[in-house]
Amino acid sequence: MEVKRCSRCGAFYTNQGYVCSKCTSKDNLELSQFKNFVEENCVEISSLSQIASETGISEKNLNRFLDYDGLEGYKKLFK
Ligand SMILES: [Zn+2]
Repeated sequence: MEVKRCSRCGAFYTNQGYVCSKCTSKDNLELSQFKNFVEENCVEISSLSQIASETGISEKNLNRFLDYDGLEGYKKLFK
């Protein structure tokens, strides 16, 4: 069994996913906020720090989201 370290809270966990089970709902919530924000403001977004200040999601978490499966298209927007 693979033990991973949660990048949100630092706890060790063995469940599937990008973060521990305690952080999963918060992570999913922020991820959908991020996606919605990008979809609604696509042409006006220039940087992750802009999204961070407008959504309240930390830049660290936004950077992590860009590596999630299915967000390859988003990654291109910020490179
Ligand atoms: Zn966690």
